Amino acid sequence: MTKEKIKCTYCKSNNYIKTGKRKTKSRKYIQRYRCLNCDRRFMNIDKSFRMRHSVKIIDKALKLRKTGLSYGQVSKKLNIPISRQSVMRWDKKFNK
Ligand SMILES: [Zn+2]
Repeated sequence: MTKEKIKCTYCKSNNYIKTGKRKTKSRKYIQRYRCLNCDRRFMNIDKSFRMRHSVKIIDKALKLRKTGLSYGQVSKKLNIPISRQSVMRWDKKFNK
């Protein structure tokens, strides 16, 4: 597994500072950053979102897959915005 590096979503610079965490309803905390290169603020939603899914959701997805559902059906059953590609990826990665 390769370690993901955070980059500014606008200019792809990694010259940024952390500006604090923001609480949301759906995801508990989102780390916010300010880019020192283009002076725009961005959030690293994608990574934290995926990390949060890794335990409970992936487990649930794999169990659903075992009941014979397709990737698309599993992604619908999870009640969260997960693409069928994600489910497919988890299936390949964790279902050995
Ligand atoms: Zn930037």
